[in-house]
Amino acid sequence: MIEAFSVTLNPARIIFGRGAVDRLASEVARIGARRALVLSTPFQKADAERLASSLGKAAAGVFAEAVMHTPICVTERALALFEAAGADCVVSFGGGSTIGLGKAIAWRNDTPQIVVATTYAGSEVTPILGETTDGLKTTRRDHRILPEAVIYDPDLTVSLPVGMSVSSGLNAMAHAVEALYAQDRNPVSSWQAIEGIGALKKALPRIVAKAEDIDARSLALYGSWLCGTVLGTVGMALHHKLCHTLGGSFDLPHAETHAILLPHSAAYNAPAAEEALRPAADLFGGSLSGGLHDFASSLGAPLALRDLGLAESDLDRAADLAVENPYWNPRPIEHDGIRALLQDAWEGTRPS
Ligand code: NAD
Repeated sequence: MIEAFSVTLNPARIIFGRGAVDRLASEVARIGARRALVLSTPFQKADAERLASSLGKAAAGVFAEAVMHTPICVTERALALFEAAGADCVVSFGGGSTIGLGKAIAWRNDTPQIVVATTYAGSEVTPILGETTDGLKTTRRDHRILPEAVIYDPDLTVSLPVGMSVSSGLNAMAHAVEALYAQDRNPVSSWQAIEGIGALKKALPRIVAKAEDIDARSLALYGSWLCGTVLGTVGMALHHKLCHTLGGSFDLPHAETHAILLPHSAAYNAPAAEEALRPAADLFGGSLSGGLHDFASSLGAPLALRDLGLAESDLDRAADLAVENPYWNPRPIEHDGIRALLQDAWEGTRPS
C-alpha cells in the first residue's frame, strides 16, 4: 500500500539537452523580459560574456563577481548594476555560488531568473537561499527564490574539472540520500532520489575516465536535476546540518565537505533508516556507508576533513555547534555519536 503523504511541488520549467543553451534568448522572451543581466563568478566571466553577446540587445550586461556563500555586499553591488542597466531579469550562468547571487537579487526585487546550470549542486531547482553577512549565514525559503526556468546543457559541464565534477556529483547524491529518509518523503521523491543516485553512480566513473564523455556528462546532469529537485521538495537532516556547520563556521569548501561527510552521515543514520535506505544500499553492494566510501575513494574524491585544512582541535567545537539547535533526524542527535562521526570523517576512515 502507498503510505499517506502530502507534498507541495515546486513549479519547474526545465530545458535539457545538448545545445539547450541556444534556447536562452527565446526563454528570456518567453518570460516577457527584454534586458537580462548575466551573472557569473570571476572564473566563468569570459563564458558569461559570450553568453551575453549571444543575447544581443536583450543583454543588459555582465556581473561576474559571484562568490561562495552569497555575501550580501556582493548582492548589493549586483543590485546597483541591475538597476543602473535597466535590467528586467537575471541569467545565472554557473554553479551554486552564481545561482545564489541570482536568488538573492530575486528575493529582493522579485525579478525572474533563468539559470544555466554548470555544476551538479542542484540549487537551480530549490526555493532555498543561503546568504552571509559578517560571517553569519542565514537560510530562507520563499517562492520568489525559485528560478523560473533552468537550462541544462551537458556541453557546458565538460569544462568542470574532474575533481570538482566528482565532489559536486557526491554533493548531489547527498541530497538524495537524505531525501530517502526524510520525514516528509513521498513515493515520487523517493523514486527521484534513487533514479538520481543511480544516474550519478553510473556517470561519475565514466567522467573520471574521460572528462569529455558527453553521454556521461548528460547522465550526471540528469541525476543532479533529480537530486536537486528532492532537495527542494523534502526536508534535509543530519548530513546537511553538519555540512552547513562546517562550511559556515570553519569555512570549508561546500562540495568537498559534502563528499567527505556523506558516508559517515549515512553510517550514523543507517540503523534508524534501514528500510528507507535499502534501495540506495542495494546500488552500493549492500552497505550504503562502506559502499559510498569505496565509491568516493575509487573516484579520487577527498576522504578526510583534515585534508581540507580542518584542525583536529576544532572537532569538539564542531560537535557542540552541530547539536546546538534541535532538528528532526531519523536517529536522535547525540553529542558523543556526532563527535565520533566527525573524528572518523576527519581521519577518513571507512565506515562499516
Ligand atoms: P560554485 O558555484 O562555487 O563553483 C565552483 C567553481 O567552479 C567556481 O569557480 C565556478 O565558476 C566554477 N565552475 C562552475 N561550473 C563550471 C564549469 N562547467 N566549468 C568550469 N568551471 C566551472 O560551486 P557549487 O558547488 O556549484 O556551489 C556551491 C554553493 O552553492 C555554496 O555556497 C552552497 O551553499 C550553494 N548551494 C545552495 C543550494 C540551495 O539550494 N540553496 C544547493 C546547493 C548548493
